[in-house]
Amino acid sequence: MNRRVNMSRAEYSMTCVAPTVAEALGVRAPAPTFAEAMVGRQATGTPIPEIAGELVGSARVAILAPDALGMSSYEHFAADMPFLRSLCEARMVVLRSVMPSITPVNFAAMVTGCDLDGHGVRSKELDFQCETLFDVLPEHDRAGAGCGRPGYTGGDLLARCANINGTSELADDAGVEEVTLRIARKFRADFIIAQIGGTDDHFHRFGPRSDSARPKVQETDGRLARMCEELGALGYAIIILADHGQHDTGDPTHGGSHGSDSDEDCRVPCTWLAAR
Ligand SMILES: [Zn+2]
Repeated sequence: MNRRVNMSRAEYSMTCVAPTVAEALGVRAPAPTFAEAMVGRQATGTPIPEIAGELVGSARVAILAPDALGMSSYEHFAADMPFLRSLCEARMVVLRSVMPSITPVNFAAMVTGCDLDGHGVRSKELDFQCETLFDVLPEHDRAGAGCGRPGYTGGDLLARCANINGTSELADDAGVEEVTLRIARKFRADFIIAQIGGTDDHFHRFGPRSDSARPKVQETDGRLARMCEELGALGYAIIILADHGQHDTGDPTHGGSHGSDSDEDCRVPCTWLAAR
């Protein structure tokens, strides 16, 4: 149910991310409700074998999420992202966003292993209705950080609900890079999830395959390369994925959009790097 084959590549639900991180770190997966945690039930997603198989036993895991960088934008801009492309050519699975294919719903899926019916986070101001990785990690004397800009899901949901609050001081992607690496250096957080939000903004404005979005895509590839270099040196295994994709609205004044169950909105590339 969590896995289906599409165009000969394995495709997994976004709900599989939290159980994959849990298996990599050797902790239990979050439960679908707080009550079910008491009787040992686990998230609806299941570990992704390709990733969990390589990352099991990792001391630390970081998720870096360039927002809205779905398969269709990735394939269009592959030549502009030499770093991400090199990772994806070596290792990639396709993930499918849960509905609706919007940012808070899918970041919530990544840290809970549940869809909207389970986690209840339709908007970034809401609280989780079920366990998250941030509830599980302290049981093991470990801690997780959520990183992102204020006003974005990274700052207003992930940072707010994490064990370590990684709200950036600067309200841009450079600020998210800075706070993520500072938390990794200072706290060696066992788990970090960082929303890199600028790609979503540019795709909304210009369109998800627009030449005008190209500089932002290139900048994001450089940012991912720098972050992986430093996080790798600090002993982190890294998972890179998007929360959802975008489709072109066909209206030059509106650029891109998302939220539907179309492949453009829902299929995202996911690649990973084992700890050094
Ligand atoms: Zn968006």
